[in-house]
Amino acid sequence: MSRTIVIVGSGPGGMYAAQGFLDKDPECRVDVIERLPSPFGLIRGGVAPDHQKTKRVSKAYERTLSNDRVRYIGNVEVGKDIAVTELLRIYDAVVLAYGAPHDNRLGVDGEDLPNVFGSNAFVGWYNGHPDFRDLNPDLGVKSAVIIGVGNVALDVARVLAKTNSEMSITDLVDYAADAAQSSPVTDIHMLGRRGPVEAAFTNVELREMGGLENAAPIMNPDHLPGKIVADYMSDRDLRLREKNIETMRSFLDVSLEDKNKRVHFGFFLSPIEILGQNSVEGVRCERTTVDENGKVHSTGETVDIPAQIVITCIGSRAFPIDDVPFNDDWGVVENEEGKVSDRLYAVGWLKRGASGTIGTNKNDSLEVVDKIIAEYDDGGRAGCDGMDTLLKERNVRVVSFEEWQIIDRLEVEAAPPGAPRRKFITPTEMIAALDAAQVAA
Ligand SMILES: Cc1cc2nc3c(=O)[nH]c(=O)nc-3n(C[C@H](O)[C@H](O)[C@H](O)COP(=O)(O)OP(=O)(O)OC[C@H]3O[C@@H](n4cnc5c(N)ncnc54)[C@H](O)[C@@H]3O)c2cc1C
Repeated sequence: MSRTIVIVGSGPGGMYAAQGFLDKDPECRVDVIERLPSPFGLIRGGVAPDHQKTKRVSKAYERTLSNDRVRYIGNVEVGKDIAVTELLRIYDAVVLAYGAPHDNRLGVDGEDLPNVFGSNAFVGWYNGHPDFRDLNPDLGVKSAVIIGVGNVALDVARVLAKTNSEMSITDLVDYAADAAQSSPVTDIHMLGRRGPVEAAFTNVELREMGGLENAAPIMNPDHLPGKIVADYMSDRDLRLREKNIETMRSFLDVSLEDKNKRVHFGFFLSPIEILGQNSVEGVRCERTTVDENGKVHSTGETVDIPAQIVITCIGSRAFPIDDVPFNDDWGVVENEEGKVSDRLYAVGWLKRGASGTIGTNKNDSLEVVDKIIAEYDDGGRAGCDGMDTLLKERNVRVVSFEEWQIIDRLEVEAAPPGAPRRKFITPTEMIAALDAAQVAA
């Protein structure tokens, strides 16, 4: 008997699950519901605009959505347009894949001052995610603090540090490009509670910081260990960290001459307060040390770093919808190896929290698909027809995959020379452009 599966969210977690069903159950049909007209989650709205190669993974997801047994149901929000309980009535299995888009809080005084942002908001803003279109960060600043020492912190630093010509070949949205290019920022501080050994950079991304046109990385040579002593790390981790230390050591040779911007790697600094009354004036940090087990210890000494904007890159969490059980401590949907409850499952960041690379989602989603197939019941539910009836009754304007392809083509056609696309931002803009293109055709 053919089963119908619905996947909620079209990011990597959801798309690898969709392809998994196609490969492992030759009879099934899959609907992918996405709250935005545009698919692929953080590939469009998170991955850095100057990392177009990484974004190319979406080509594989497009192939999945082009399969006859898959439907893309864009512009439909679960929890608003349709409830999870309704999906469970219509489909044989429901796979939640709606990500972890809410920024973790730092939990220090001053965090709610204007011009303090979480990375989801700030990255969403420069990537044209409609939720953050009106964030309006003030980049008319001399000094910026980025809290966090991972790849997202590097992404944010590059957007602030790169030149117009470096960014002209990206899909950075116009309003963000204007704000970044007219910004007088000269000093960008990345702060980490721990040291360079523990920093979560991947080496390719770290190396990029040594080759920027108008910005130089600044390292404190005293922070770079001759030999790494970290008993808690695997041999593989140690090798990766050694490579990072080597790269950071090479930054000591990068000339500051004819560079107007500096990206400071501020290790062993734990932010304890964002300073300022009505606007950000700086970040107060406690100096720390790290022992051979990776544990952080405060020295009691404080240091103030001047800044007029603060962006925290300290991870994110999911949010509960409907009656889905939620683990508030971990910021994920309550699940056991992907199973939430009878016929209800979770994959991606919603399942395991915000960590790992795009590829990490693949095996993880495939494991959950295996579990779902093993747990299939007798089936026989209304499936895709039931969904169509419900959405029609509710008058929801669905964006199909073919319609998304039209929007995609319009974005690519509107690209300035050298750039991959000019993004539409809001669903309203996308649908208006789509309607106009369909009338013209
Ligand atoms: C800033 C940033 C940069 C990154 N850069 C890289 C990188 O360069 N390389 C790399 O390997 N990894 C990178 N990652 C990690 C990678 O993006 C994630 O591993 C991956 O996107 C997680 O996939 P997901 O499907 O769980 O979530 P998401 O990608 O967030 O997808 C969730 C989808 O669900 C949709 N949705 C949300 N709510 C609803 C709802 N109620 N109804 C219907 N749909 C809904 C969302 O719109 C979204 O499309 C980055 C992450 C971030 C935050």
